[in-house]
Amino acid sequence: MKTIGVLGGMSWDSSLEWYRMANERVRERLGGHHSARILLDSLDFAEIESLQARDDWDAAGVLLADHARRLELAGADLIVLCTNTMHLVAARIQAAIGVPFLHIADTTAEAVLRTDARRVALLGTAFTMERPFYRERLEAHGIDVLVPAAEDRAGVHAVIYDELVHGIIRPESRAFYREVIERLVARGAEGVVLGCTEIELLVSEEDSPVPVFPTTALHVDAALAAAGLLAGD
Ligand code: GLU
Repeated sequence: MKTIGVLGGMSWDSSLEWYRMANERVRERLGGHHSARILLDSLDFAEIESLQARDDWDAAGVLLADHARRLELAGADLIVLCTNTMHLVAARIQAAIGVPFLHIADTTAEAVLRTDARRVALLGTAFTMERPFYRERLEAHGIDVLVPAAEDRAGVHAVIYDELVHGIIRPESRAFYREVIERLVARGAEGVVLGCTEIELLVSEEDSPVPVFPTTALHVDAALAAAGLLAGD
């Protein structure tokens, strides 16, 4: 059984989900007393958030690359980064380690391609929706990407930073996300990428008329498959 190195804490609410789902899936598939072998490095999100706010992606890349290296030295056989946004510095992390890095946009794209959807809406932080790093990664898999209009993007972003990363789940925010999803479906979205690891704490398949792609759950599945803990799909 391989050991999965997890860069978490961004936020810890979603890392908790990651950890819980990974262990639940292993329990379901392997039974007995089995659980996932995980090394979790949980960062202080305040440090990350202030680097984002200062637009200091160089420092963020150096920091996350250093933490990834530590996980490798501690014995991780593969590394995952439990946040979509911080994949903006994925190249820095990948260059720093000698073990595989499972890019969350790739695991998401692979899940989209297993369905009929070829045009998806992308919900996430403003960084994820507006900067090219995530959209282009999905597009490289042959997937068209729609993002919400400016006002909706600001609202989606605010719910993440003001509520979800603080563990706050509000029905009004779920209703707002549902409206945003409806507007994107009206523009032709055939699926919705929940491209922020906390969004699946707020919305699910029930909130969307088209399939949703929960990036945390999909990332867990891909990591477990890569670790030889689950049969790949
Ligand atoms: N967890 C979020 C994501 O998946 C946002 C928090 C962060 O900026 O890392 O993008």
